[in-house]
Amino acid sequence: MNVLLVYAHPEPRSLNGALKEFAVQRLQAAGHQVQVSDLYAMGWKAAIDAGDSLDRDPEARFDASEDSRRAFASGRQSSDIAAEQDKLRWADALILQFPLWWFSMPAILKGWVDRVYAYGFAYGVGEHSDARWGDRYGEGSMVGKRAMLIVTTGGWESHYSPRGINGPIEDLLFPIHHGILHYPGFDVLPPFLVHRTSRIDRARFDTLRDELGKRLDDLWRTEPIAYRKQNGGDYDIPALTLRAEVAPGQVGFAAHVEQP
Ligand SMILES: Cc1cc2nc3c(=O)[nH]c(=O)nc-3n(C[C@H](O)[C@H](O)[C@H](O)COP(=O)(O)OP(=O)(O)OC[C@H]3O[C@@H](n4cnc5c(N)ncnc54)[C@H](O)[C@@H]3O)c2cc1C
Repeated sequence: MNVLLVYAHPEPRSLNGALKEFAVQRLQAAGHQVQVSDLYAMGWKAAIDAGDSLDRDPEARFDASEDSRRAFASGRQSSDIAAEQDKLRWADALILQFPLWWFSMPAILKGWVDRVYAYGFAYGVGEHSDARWGDRYGEGSMVGKRAMLIVTTGGWESHYSPRGINGPIEDLLFPIHHGILHYPGFDVLPPFLVHRTSRIDRARFDTLRDELGKRLDDLWRTEPIAYRKQNGGDYDIPALTLRAEVAPGQVGFAAHVEQP
């Protein structure tokens, strides 16, 4: 299988750097092909702007969606964007690895999503009408591929528990899991989380490596998070709210996960 690991940490000698090296070796040892997009090492340009389209009229008003649509459709995207899209087409599984910074991904990784997820590639796919709102949330360009986050946090596990002060980690990661990965069709696996990173000695690091190794060995066996599919019958279209009889009384992020 082909695995794309998109990695966002500025320091190779960090905990994230060590876990990334381990992940690549483990996957390769299991016979998988691995490509790493090491965003800091690549000098990835995070900000979306007019320079992302080649040959555009410099006098024209810049429109992030429309410029993206036109450049993608005409093959006139900046080469760094097109190269990452090729890696995504090639991949059977995508891993996004990052330290949690201000309750989200580092800006450089968000900029990878902003720019690589072009109109016509990751969104704006499929029929858009009052009867059908595109191929997304369980359908789209990434159908059949799996995705998983590897996230490290300074905070403790309890801080991210259901009643923890930081909010439940499932809720904090929902915009990435659901909005960035489920949206274009990935099957989203539960994340691999490392909490309380300031307390990592050799023994804990060895345990973490073993746990991560197991998750990577199980990449193709792990049950994805059961996010509801937009076009699976649970939502009224075009309102795109859950039908009254689906999860009655339930609101918030958890309502979009099917319960067994
Ligand atoms: C801008 C910013 C915003 C942040 N926001 C949040 C937030 O919202 N929520 C939150 O919980 N945290 C937050 N943090 C903390 C952040 O999530 C952690 O600092 C980060 O996850 C630690 O990962 P690292 O790879 O940088 O670890 P490092 O600092 O590199 O390492 C952490 C520890 O791991 C051990 N270690 C490192 N490398 C190795 C190795 N090769 N072998 C064995 N042990 C090793 C060491 O003991 C080291 O002290 C924030 C930090 C920053 C800078």
